[in-house]
Amino acid sequence: METRESETREQEERKALLSEYRKILRVANFNKNDEQARLIRKAFDVAQQAHKGVRRKSGEAYIFHPLAVARIVAEEIGLGKTAIICALLHDVVEDTDLDIDYIEAQFGKKVADIVDGLTKIEEVFDQSKSLQQENFRKILLTLADDVRVILIKIADRLHNMRTLESMRKDKQLKIASETLYIYAPLAHRLGFYNLKSELEDLSLKYKAPSIYDEISTKLKKSKAVRSRFINKFTHPITKILEKDGVHFKVESRTKSIYSIWNKMRKKSIPFEEVYDVFAVRFILDVPLENEKAMCWKIYSIITDFYKPNPDRLRDWISTPKVNGYESLHTTVMSPTGKWVEVQIRSKRMDEIAEKGFAAHWKYKEQTHHEGALDKWISRIREILEEHETDAIDFVDDFKLNLFAKEIFVFTPKGDIKSLPHNSTALDFAYEIHTELGHHCLGAKVDKKLVPLSHKLESGDQVEILRSKAQHPIPEWLDFTVTGKAKAAIKAYLKKEKRKKAKAGEKKLREAFDALSIYFTDINLNALSTIFKTATVTDIFYRFGTGSLNLTDIERLPRENGVLQLKKSRKGNGIKTLEEIVEATRGKKDALVIGAGQRKLVYKIADCCNPIPGDDVVGFVTHEGVISIHRISCENVVPIMSNHGYRVIKARWGEEQQIAFQAGIEMSGFDRTGMVNEITKVISNEMDVEMRSISFDSTDGVFTGRVLVYVNDTAQLKNLQEKLEAVEGITKVNRIE
Ligand code: MN
Repeated sequence: METRESETREQEERKALLSEYRKILRVANFNKNDEQARLIRKAFDVAQQAHKGVRRKSGEAYIFHPLAVARIVAEEIGLGKTAIICALLHDVVEDTDLDIDYIEAQFGKKVADIVDGLTKIEEVFDQSKSLQQENFRKILLTLADDVRVILIKIADRLHNMRTLESMRKDKQLKIASETLYIYAPLAHRLGFYNLKSELEDLSLKYKAPSIYDEISTKLKKSKAVRSRFINKFTHPITKILEKDGVHFKVESRTKSIYSIWNKMRKKSIPFEEVYDVFAVRFILDVPLENEKAMCWKIYSIITDFYKPNPDRLRDWISTPKVNGYESLHTTVMSPTGKWVEVQIRSKRMDEIAEKGFAAHWKYKEQTHHEGALDKWISRIREILEEHETDAIDFVDDFKLNLFAKEIFVFTPKGDIKSLPHNSTALDFAYEIHTELGHHCLGAKVDKKLVPLSHKLESGDQVEILRSKAQHPIPEWLDFTVTGKAKAAIKAYLKKEKRKKAKAGEKKLREAFDALSIYFTDINLNALSTIFKTATVTDIFYRFGTGSLNLTDIERLPRENGVLQLKKSRKGNGIKTLEEIVEATRGKKDALVIGAGQRKLVYKIADCCNPIPGDDVVGFVTHEGVISIHRISCENVVPIMSNHGYRVIKARWGEEQQIAFQAGIEMSGFDRTGMVNEITKVISNEMDVEMRSISFDSTDGVFTGRVLVYVNDTAQLKNLQEKLEAVEGITKVNRIE
């Protein structure tokens, strides 16, 4: 009975799957027997087999997810075969046993590369939230490789947002926030207005359910009133257009819930006072060459009936937005005294507005800005390639660009440049060229002299004045808004800082010499701790600028040339053993300590006194000496985390001709002759030389410490065992 039931369920599921699959072929316009369709079918079969038996949180078979993503990719983004195949396979490498080599063998390199990109994006997203900004940068870098990776990722996220209901509450919040922070702006920047709005609305739905419900209810309730109003408003215009034989359609689109909420919040007004809750859209079916003239003709008809607000005329036809958007917008006064936004555009422009760059590719031959996507990507590249900017700055700078509205200004030769809203003359200079920015003295805007902080407006003609004596200063960051300008200024300042730090390092060396402090990493790191700087370079920099000097160091507690931190254990000075070491950067990339042909300077760290046999790492100090630490040493973790690039693998060579210092600690019950016996044990041990010994005894219980020279851990262990055998000794440990 039960088997039969589950059999039927399986059959039904299979039917549903096939129907979903066929829909993809249909929207992508493939015939079942096409060669193209055959490959898509193969991807479908591979994915289905790979995800077999796995179910999503909602209970449905996992394969429905890649199917849905593939459909979004085909239908809503408008991509073709390769993207559909990659969408079907997008979770296969991440979640199943199939690997990227298999994908490449079955579907070729292009598909494998995209799936690989998708898997990697997934991996970085799985990590903690603090990594998020770095991820963003990675996403954009991937984008430059193949924009399909990012489009499929957006589709994947959209489907996950559409099915977020079945997730745990905390997961919902995390995913919704991330969507709002990264995916919606990305979709917007790529020109996918619909996807962006849906992502934002769904995020709001999970982040602030009550606000979402309230606005969507109000929108539904006001729907009938709105359509009556729109019919009445458009009626006189449509009558004329029909009479003139113009092919067109009228649409009205309400603003997204998220953008209504944004407006309410920004202007602190109730829902009822958001006047542009909807826009009326005239979409004309006209040949490309008549587009512009026809759009303006409609504009003229509309404004014959209704009075336009001159401040709200937007001509995105003569100058399309960077994301490719073209349209003519105006806001007019209706007879009832209500402002109404009217958008006028051709069918082609409408498709671009909805589907973004995918539609651009479709119209590539017809439009004059085919290179727009390439231009956008190369702009991102420019910013990314300023490696001086770190990831967090980058996101901040980049987000500025994402959200800012654009202005259009002209070069003296009449070339048009688009810049974010609030851009200054200095931004403009950097937009033209980094060097021009660095030496920007001021500008002439429409022939009038202005300072470099002057805010530009659309239509300004800008001429930059330069001087060789001019250089970037930190204050410039306050009045630049473009990512490009900020990145260039920061890179310059960083370079300057490095120069100052170099000079500071010299001064500090002199100060240390004067105070007989060793110029070692331990001391430099100690300074960094004492003066709370992020890196040792910051210490150098402060010496370079004079904000730290000799007197500041003079005050610090120090002993035998080593600076003392409050908690630090007393050291007995740095001793630099120069020995022959062999750097084998071969297979294991390890430094071999011991006999060899090449001479490298190394020293045994006195904080942990490693001896042959211990697991060790090398650390390249400022002096170029390799300092050898035990892996268990408490200084290793901070060094690794702050100066990971300076850490090198190290291991001991076969033969050691020198002895190494090690400490042993022991305790037990005191008795007469104990010390004597211990020293006898040590000195009877072959090759072990004693450096120091100390004992302490209270109430019959003693503790003792010996420092010895040994060749390796084996010898040390042997000694420890012999000491343990001494009557009365209960514990023997190596000093860590
Ligand atoms: Mn997925």
